[in-house]
Amino acid sequence: MFYEIKMKFVLDASAFINLGEIDFVGEIFTTYAIDFEIRDFRTKLLLEAKKVQLRAPTKASMKETKEQAKITGDLEVLSEADLSVIALALDLKANIVTDDFDIQNLCLQMNIPFFQTKTRIKKKFKRRLYCDKCKKTKKDKVCEVCGAETRPKVVKVENINNSS
Ligand SMILES: [Zn+2]
Repeated sequence: MFYEIKMKFVLDASAFINLGEIDFVGEIFTTYAIDFEIRDFRTKLLLEAKKVQLRAPTKASMKETKEQAKITGDLEVLSEADLSVIALALDLKANIVTDDFDIQNLCLQMNIPFFQTKTRIKKKFKRRLYCDKCKKTKKDKVCEVCGAETRPKVVKVENINNSS
């Protein structure tokens, strides 16, 4: 028996920058938000040459992605465009191609398969808002004790099994 499985890939902005480095067979997608971010003319041409299909993720997938990003603490550091890539991959049951560690981290959390053009994440991490003055993690963007602005900080690191 022979099955032809056409793989789907959703690319983020970092993947387009290094697209020349990789070669793969399958359908290539990205979101309107990423397309909007790409201003470089050569990359725009590449989008046409590779027949990249533009899509918008469903609201349900965006919501799910944001909820998962809250768990890892990545919501503070990921842009709407970044989140749209993950949400679209969820919709299309596609792989993600990205060199962005924050996106890769969320892929690990959500069990979305991903590939990199150059750099792959070595450890899975979690971020929490942190007050540098009080040296404590906080719930809000402003510390309720000293009033300083908190920032997302990596608080937990886990080893992962990288097969590629
Ligand atoms: Zn504080």
